[in-house]
Amino acid sequence: MPEIHRLPLPTPFPVGPVNTYVLPERPVTLVDPGPVWDPAREALLAGLAHLGLALKDIDLIVITHPHIDHYGLANEVAAASGAVVAAHPDAAPRLAVGLAGMTREGRGVLEELLTLAGAPETFGEDLLGQWTQAAAFAHPVRVDRFLLDGEILEGGGVRWTAVHTPGHSPGSVCLYEPAGGRLVSGDHLLFHITSNAIIEFEVPRDRAPAGGPAERLRSLEIYIGALRRLETLDVSEVLPGHGEPFGGHREVITGRLGHYETRKAEVLAALDGLGPSPAFRLAEALFPDEAGAMGRFLALSEILGHLDLLETEGRVVRQRDGRAELYRSV
Ligand SMILES: [Zn+2]
Repeated sequence: MPEIHRLPLPTPFPVGPVNTYVLPERPVTLVDPGPVWDPAREALLAGLAHLGLALKDIDLIVITHPHIDHYGLANEVAAASGAVVAAHPDAAPRLAVGLAGMTREGRGVLEELLTLAGAPETFGEDLLGQWTQAAAFAHPVRVDRFLLDGEILEGGGVRWTAVHTPGHSPGSVCLYEPAGGRLVSGDHLLFHITSNAIIEFEVPRDRAPAGGPAERLRSLEIYIGALRRLETLDVSEVLPGHGEPFGGHREVITGRLGHYETRKAEVLAALDGLGPSPAFRLAEALFPDEAGAMGRFLALSEILGHLDLLETEGRVVRQRDGRAELYRSV
């Protein structure tokens, strides 16, 4: 089987190192080149050199999803090599504007969402401030080739099938090698980390309901749907975006699905203790140790995802209370 080399690159983020994958056979392929950060860039160049490669040798860059720890350096690598940049079409608009542009465009929707969730007045500002700082770790990049679901991609001597796996991000895509059973999973399936189905506040314009407030995507429900699709694939080895490669993907998925059941029970128990509550209050109650705006936002995202599941199951209802929405168990 054609070789795939994993280069764990350091990042300045709490998640720790991000995996870049190098496929040295033609077309020489790089999956997720890592963030714009000197230690990451140095590790990437050293890893390539160890394989007898330089940036100029890269023919194809695949971006599994538009998060800065994964795509930051893509534009730099493409400029140095002339490589084709491939990603899912839903990733392309945010890759084109970068994180700073995305927060500008999505600001109104984000603020509306935070108000509904009962977040404190200043929270949106804090969060956008943190995002604006983080924007420096990635440069916007243009996508040359769209990886639609089912698309065949020749990369690194492997015939890949693109699998669209939205949820962690709408533009997430996995690369699946039917012949060898390898799956490059991005952040869709990780071994040690439960991927956060992050709230989408930037609803693509063509999908926002005309005139009305933009509906947020029910990211966790979308994520679970995409997780179940992976269960149907025959996979021998998962090459994740963070951590070591692993097998037994079905067991990992079963474990994840069980984890959602546990979390739903925790959310219901918290609701019973607190009485009707906005999502933000529940997030603070269940994740009291999250101090920074980003951590609190991810906690909110986690809670909203589970509230969506519970609402779909008819176990909680939502009602408007002033500008916020309260959830109560039924
Ligand atoms: Zn990541």
